[in-house]
Amino acid sequence: MSIHHPDRPTLSYEFFPPKDDSGDALLWSSFDALLKTSPDFVSVTYGAGGTNQARSISVVERMAQNVATVGHLTAVGATRAKTLDLLRDFEATGVAGILALRGDSPKDNPDALAQGEIKTALELVELSEANTGLDIGVAAFPEIHPESPDLAHDIRVLKFKQDAGATFAITQLFFDLDAYARFVSAAHEAGVTIPIIPGLMPISNAKQVLRMAELSGASIPPRLLNDLQSAQDDQSARRVGMAFSVEFGRRLLAEAAAPGLHIFSLNSHVAALELATGVGLA
Ligand code: FAD
Repeated sequence: MSIHHPDRPTLSYEFFPPKDDSGDALLWSSFDALLKTSPDFVSVTYGAGGTNQARSISVVERMAQNVATVGHLTAVGATRAKTLDLLRDFEATGVAGILALRGDSPKDNPDALAQGEIKTALELVELSEANTGLDIGVAAFPEIHPESPDLAHDIRVLKFKQDAGATFAITQLFFDLDAYARFVSAAHEAGVTIPIIPGLMPISNAKQVLRMAELSGASIPPRLLNDLQSAQDDQSARRVGMAFSVEFGRRLLAEAAAPGLHIFSLNSHVAALELATGVGLA
């Protein structure tokens, strides 16, 4: 099953497993609201902690009853046998596909990656391709993965993943159109043909998004940064941020020929809906 449609841009939303009951209520009301926009698929992130992983699977299972669902899966610190069990658990939920990710060592266990059997997302792609019928997506980094020496290296890794069975990629958040265009063009030159779907973060809470950008290494265009920082209050900053996000999404589709938009909903439907509607996908 393919979650991508070559004839039109796809619309998808990302959610995370909630931590408590109020988060749970927010997730499902947002999911119901966003489902009305007929997304092509939704995705659910996967956390490093044990309880969070069980929650990921139960959220995936419930969403998969309503819409094509992609479960993120990380392999950091895990054995091959445990990862294979997890892949089978995912497949049993009726999920359409997985986003095969390496993950990062948690702060309280910095050696987790070194201690696990699976060291890269590529190995997870290979394991899934050999043992399941799931559609396989992977991560892509228009501004280069923090551990990567250069763009060419990241593109080589992406091509390995495609050759191993990945059928689509979703990018890290970014705010620089040229970075995406450069990455896609270099990927095409290297023989990458799978759709590289931009991950789009609506800037509705400017402080939170600026913090996330810093953590992920995403550059903020100086003019946007200036406009956000000189906004009088949170409401004005939101107006500036959302206007930028809608314009950015439109340009990704129109100028950079992006194959769709993957909106990071942060489990809240208001900004995601504004963005999907603003860019003309809902
Ligand atoms: P890899 O592809 O393994 O790459 C990691 C590094 O190793 C890169 O520098 C790469 O260039 C290098 N590398 C990989 N393979 C090779 C090779 N064969 N030879 C040489 N070098 C190689 N994290 C979570 O914990 N949960 C989530 O749900 C989650 N969702 C995400 C969703 C998206 C869209 C994105 C972009 C990231 C997500 N992440 C998530 C974060 C991700 O786990 C981290 O960014 C992680 O550091 C890298 O994951 P990866 O799959 O790109 O790893």
